[in-house]
Amino acid sequence: MRLSDIKPKKARRSLICAAAAAIAFGAVASPAWSASSPAPTQAAESQDKLSREEMLISRKKLYESISAVTHIPWYRLAAIDQYEHTLTKVHPKDRSHPPRLTGIFMNEPVWSGMFNPDPNDSNPRSISIFNGYGRDGSGDGQADMNNDIDVLYSMASYLLRYGQSEEDFSIALWEYYHNSRSVQRIRQFSKLYEKFQTLDLSGHAFPLPISDSYAYRSTWGTGRSWGGYRIHEGTDIFAPYGMPVRSTCYGIVELKGWNPFGGWRIGIRDLENRYHYYAHLQGFEKNLNQGDIVNPGQTIGWVGSSGYGKPGTQGKFPPHLHYGIYRDSGLVEWSFDPYPLLRHWETEERQAIKKKNKGNS
Ligand SMILES: [Zn+2]
Repeated sequence: MRLSDIKPKKARRSLICAAAAAIAFGAVASPAWSASSPAPTQAAESQDKLSREEMLISRKKLYESISAVTHIPWYRLAAIDQYEHTLTKVHPKDRSHPPRLTGIFMNEPVWSGMFNPDPNDSNPRSISIFNGYGRDGSGDGQADMNNDIDVLYSMASYLLRYGQSEEDFSIALWEYYHNSRSVQRIRQFSKLYEKFQTLDLSGHAFPLPISDSYAYRSTWGTGRSWGGYRIHEGTDIFAPYGMPVRSTCYGIVELKGWNPFGGWRIGIRDLENRYHYYAHLQGFEKNLNQGDIVNPGQTIGWVGSSGYGKPGTQGKFPPHLHYGIYRDSGLVEWSFDPYPLLRHWETEERQAIKKKNKGNS
């Protein structure tokens, strides 16, 4: 389907609604107008000064206002936007844009149309003639690629061309990104937002219950004693057999099963597009399946010594959890040292436990 297939009547109606929504949205978009937020000392406080919490509230309201107009579920818009934020994080130079709430980045040919002689065109009519994706959602007559409402409304309008079902959504994503990983990620994110009904899913947990019965140190990049010359891509946490292994994040089980090196291992994708890898397990939590949603601290399996052989091989090394994190750049994934994060999560949890115990005594 092409952009020009949208019935003009429908598009016009949406536009009017969008303009109305934009006005309503204005009342909530900035904490400067929000009754629940403290009034900023300066009227034109920039968005990068917003607290994380305020920013997430504003974002969600933005998604909801576009959803009210287009009937694209807010969590799908949120999922695409979050995925695009993660892309910008790894490709900041290619995707630079002025600070705004939304992360969706369409470059000039996408926004204005491939053959548009004016790459910075913001006239919705000519953009439409050149099959650009840019739309005016704010109702000011301009399709501005740095206006949050215009950007999101343009994406929602694109999705609308395909329909509302889960399958329609997948096809639209495929046609947009031509990358199966992008489709998978965005669908995962969408599931997470739909389930928890919030954007604030940044909580973390240490992968083992906090205690004195495990030990780990930074082993990033040291040579492997097993399996040849690959560098060690992770941290080994030594612990007794059967100690629960817990998800460190909100995420989705992307992979579960046997690997000749990792043994029984499980991979969980989080909303930062990071892949958390837990290897050498003794076994998996019985009811956990691929595609399931997990919370930080939720048990996913048990510490073991499986791996380095055919399925079921164990005992070739002392029991430990091998924990690795991989970041997805959109095309490739690379590992980074999880040790600092592990220390951070452990400290945070220890402090929370201490605080709780103090409160109880
Ligand atoms: Zn290891």
